[in-house]
Amino acid sequence: MSANFVGIGYDSHRLAEGRALIIGGVHIEHDLGLVGHSDADVLTHAIIDALLGAGGLGDIGHHFPDTDPRYEGADSIALLATVAGLLQQHHFEVVNVDATVLVERPKIAPHRQAICERLASALRMPPERVNVKASTGERIGFVGREEGVAALAIASLLRTG
Ligand code: MG
Repeated sequence: MSANFVGIGYDSHRLAEGRALIIGGVHIEHDLGLVGHSDADVLTHAIIDALLGAGGLGDIGHHFPDTDPRYEGADSIALLATVAGLLQQHHFEVVNVDATVLVERPKIAPHRQAICERLASALRMPPERVNVKASTGERIGFVGREEGVAALAIASLLRTG
């Protein structure tokens, strides 16, 4: 018997000078970058939490604690690939992932295709099943003031075993 499961994910990271801006595994040229223990890839973190949530497997902090020196500067795409393997072990197939990045600047649209391909490749699924959107903060809130970037994600899984 197969069954469908969904999960949600949310993350936010602070913006600062002297850090790289990595969103969905893609390095985007910008005067500010995201601060975190890992590479602070806010979109990939939200997607990881959506996937773990759908699989009933806890959250990102449980699997990759930010107190663990192994994850300092970690490539979040590698963590996503680890989660994909974990889901497979638990007999889950990823049906689709949808996400929204809340970011004032820079524009995500020119990088959207590259981001979808990078995420889909880590998840070993077709890029058309990974959808990434972006929205600004309309100059209000921490997103609008360019103090940080947030991301929301939802994932759907099929249990095959
Ligand atoms: Mg995070």
